[in-house]
Amino acid sequence: MHYFFEYPLTFLKIFIIIIIESERGKHTEREVIVMTNKTLVFDMDGTIADLYGVEGWLDDLHNENTRPYAVAKPLYDMEVLNTLVNELKACGWRIVVNTWLAKNATKTYDDAVRTTKKEWLAKWGFPYDEIHLTKYGKTKANATRHLGGYQILVDDNATIRKGWTLGNTIDANEDIIIALMELLINE
Ligand SMILES: [Mg+2]
Repeated sequence: MHYFFEYPLTFLKIFIIIIIESERGKHTEREVIVMTNKTLVFDMDGTIADLYGVEGWLDDLHNENTRPYAVAKPLYDMEVLNTLVNELKACGWRIVVNTWLAKNATKTYDDAVRTTKKEWLAKWGFPYDEIHLTKYGKTKANATRHLGGYQILVDDNATIRKGWTLGNTIDANEDIIIALMELLINE
């Protein structure tokens, strides 16, 4: 018990790996094909990247400085999150990132933010198949509607989740690791 309190993340990782291993191989090839048109759409700011936890983030955005996007800490242990996302990919889920650019930004700043956000994802190894970096306020469903199938949006913004018409949503104000584990277990 002593060790559990000292290394809670290690124990969480072991727990997740046990679940993933026990789930592996449950599906026949045909089932995997049937399940392929499923998409998980991840927001970034406030969902996987702690932009709002960066001191002075709003001032920097107003001044068109990309610093907060670059230095934002992940909201989760990325080793755990990436493992789960990769397992979901292996179960046929398409992984999409759909994130807004800064409010009232110039074209130059939008381009700089696009680059910085992609660098952030690469730095933390987040696995995705497709990315949409859209103007602030754009309806998120428009970017992936053409993919069809069943789509789940993972987003911290209640208004955006309310406007999601392509399937279900996961509230990223709650622990998304738990929600993703449930998704994997139900596969
Ligand atoms: Mg957000």
